[in-house]
Amino acid sequence: MAAVEGFNSGLGMAGSWYAATATPSPRDPVLAGEETCDLVVVGAGCTGLAAALFAARRGRSVIVLEGGEVGWGASGRNGGQIIPGLRKGAVELVQALGAERARALFALAVEARDLVRDLATDLQIDCDLTLKGHLLGALKPADLRDFEAEAECLATVMDYPHVRLLDRQGAQAAVATPEFLGALVDDLGGHLHPLNYTLGLARACRDAGVRIFAHSPAIALETAGAGGVTVRTSGGRVRAGHAILAGDALLTGLSRRVNSRIMPVANYIVATEPLADPQALIAGDLAVTDSRFVVDYFRLTRDGRLLFGGGERYTPDPPPDIGRFVCPYVERAFPQLAGVCFDHAWGGLVSVTMTRLPHIGRDGPVLFAHGYSGQGAVLSSLAGRLLADALDGDAAGLERFAAVEPPPFPGGDLLRWPLYVLGMAWYALRDRL
Ligand SMILES: Cc1cc2nc3c(=O)[nH]c(=O)nc-3n(C[C@H](O)[C@H](O)[C@H](O)COP(=O)(O)OP(=O)(O)OC[C@H]3O[C@@H](n4cnc5c(N)ncnc54)[C@H](O)[C@@H]3O)c2cc1C
Repeated sequence: MAAVEGFNSGLGMAGSWYAATATPSPRDPVLAGEETCDLVVVGAGCTGLAAALFAARRGRSVIVLEGGEVGWGASGRNGGQIIPGLRKGAVELVQALGAERARALFALAVEARDLVRDLATDLQIDCDLTLKGHLLGALKPADLRDFEAEAECLATVMDYPHVRLLDRQGAQAAVATPEFLGALVDDLGGHLHPLNYTLGLARACRDAGVRIFAHSPAIALETAGAGGVTVRTSGGRVRAGHAILAGDALLTGLSRRVNSRIMPVANYIVATEPLADPQALIAGDLAVTDSRFVVDYFRLTRDGRLLFGGGERYTPDPPPDIGRFVCPYVERAFPQLAGVCFDHAWGGLVSVTMTRLPHIGRDGPVLFAHGYSGQGAVLSSLAGRLLADALDGDAAGLERFAAVEPPPFPGGDLLRWPLYVLGMAWYALRDRL
């Protein structure tokens, strides 16, 4: 991948293990001049590409505008953890929405995992997809009580019998960290190479006739009611019947309704050198997260590295040395890795909403989906399909999410950051206590 840090600056995508192991892909052209189509999609991550793919398969002419390159946002740089469900846990979801609505939303979210599996299989995307489970580690005795309640709620209210509890011995047999007091294992979880999955979606889009333009950031969006939309870039414009905003944390300036509901949070990842005995760290190829609010998450790669994300930071600016920044968090989880070399270090922006539920909906001819709050590796593909379904007249899935639209962050653009810093400091303190 060519380096185009300008659009997502300082977060080191070029130094990522994903860029180093990316499937070779064609260069997409830059938009120049005027184009017309049925649907214009802003953003070539999994949300935008899945929407484009499903819309094109149903006969629509589709153009995707990407400010950097395909997969340049969170979709190509995330931890690759497949965690069925939403960022908001089942117990909380039922408390907030009641059993029936919570169950309907949760069932859709679980569908996301199967959709990604099916797309990867049907489109023959080589993306190291592994579905051997996800383990959530407990750090405090109170977590164990919460995990029991969560497992009970999943089994009885959500009709989801795929999770099991582990005691301290079981958890530490699965993950060689002294930190875990127990765990909740979801047998349907797993992990994947997110960049190669995203590049595979892009290939399928091109095969289906979608035109993708790279290095073409959308800078203005005009709507003309039933007359459709016009999206402008610095070098051209696209007129279309509908637009989909799928820029997630990197989208600015096109829609206040969309921007005001997410907080971009920088998050950092390292990949170690290949380890002599990786399975000694994580047995059974599980994806692992812990119970902190600012989670540590880790898994093995196909070439035997530990890929580890974690650490809180109260400024949008990246640390000068990402590897050095993440290192203490790796050593906190795995003291036995003290002194190990990191071959790769990078970061990305996670978009978080006030409720930790995604923001999916429509505003006339403009549809949008974003704000998966750290759990969009598979939710994004589902959201893309829901947007395409809605364009086709089947808005049931979109409406389920639209009915729980997260509120805007208080303080608008001006106060979002200071309030965020305060909030993070509070949660980090809670993690430590
Ligand atoms: C470091 C990190 C780790 C994560 N780990 C996990 C994980 O392990 N599991 C999990 O489930 N989720 C994880 N996530 C979250 C997940 O990656 C995202 O929720 C998901 O990828 C969002 O997909 P998307 O397509 O909506 O957005 P993106 O993948 O960010 O795509 C948006 C695209 O839009 C483009 N864009 C933005 N504005 C414009 C514009 N004006 N014009 C043109 N193009 C534009 C961007 O360049 C980008 O390519 C992680 C995120 C990060 C950053």
